[in-house]
Amino acid sequence: MLSHFASCVLNATKEALAVSRCELCGRWPSDTGFSVCHDCLARHAPLVNRCDRCGIFQTIRSSACIACDTQASSLDQCIAAVDYAEPWIALIHRLKFQQDTGVCHLLAYVLHSRLVAHTQPHSSRTLPALLATDWVIPVPMHTLALSHRGYNQSWQLCKALKSRLKTHPIEGSERWEFRHDVLLKTTPTRQQHDLNRAQRLHNLASAFAVAPQMWTQIQGRSITLVDDIMTTGATLHAAANALRQQGAAHVQAWVIARTPTPIPSRLIDNQPLLTPFS
Ligand SMILES: [Zn+2]
Ligand SMILES: [Zn+2]
Repeated sequence: MLSHFASCVLNATKEALAVSRCELCGRWPSDTGFSVCHDCLARHAPLVNRCDRCGIFQTIRSSACIACDTQASSLDQCIAAVDYAEPWIALIHRLKFQQDTGVCHLLAYVLHSRLVAHTQPHSSRTLPALLATDWVIPVPMHTLALSHRGYNQSWQLCKALKSRLKTHPIEGSERWEFRHDVLLKTTPTRQQHDLNRAQRLHNLASAFAVAPQMWTQIQGRSITLVDDIMTTGATLHAAANALRQQGAAHVQAWVIARTPTPIPSRLIDNQPLLTPFS
């Protein structure tokens, strides 16, 4: 049997090897400090045109996609890091279902790189809202789901992003407060993957609420919601509606992965995204 010391050395060696080899192409050592190398990130996380409002990939450079151009939204803007496609599907699956919270650092690295891109001069449309952020908060989980998983993956992403910003700050980020005590998921909701947008919105109606102790502090705040995946946007819009109803002035979203078009037809309908709140 290995001694405790030998076991620690073996585990540390395994960890070092795991971190330094690109798990996609096998390159060793990986040149990013993460488990995916620069070449693979360039291939799987290209900087592309996205709708400012919903983060969806667009072939043409335009502020809003056709869907967002024709309907109101409770989100001022949405920054998505990548399309919800491989290898991101597998990485997010590990985060959510295999207790692999370490993958957050890679996901936060990619999101951070997108935020950096949005501080460049050509991003004048999205920069003001980025800079105006007061609070960065996770999309919350209900306590039942939280006790089942043991952690909120969106809060894990927030913490990894905060850690990345400590060593690689971007314009204005020093004033962003990362908080998990602002928004609550008050109603457990059934799994959403087999629901269309109308069903998702119904499922999520009144599912979120601002924590009572934040009712005063939230007035006039600019809030950024962080989530791992945006599919139809129903969850983020329900969360944003709850924040606005309680007095938040601006709400935007940062997500790791955005479901690309075409969204399966069963997920599409003409349901407006904005719930009246004034
Ligand atoms: Zn690679
Ligand atoms: Zn859009």
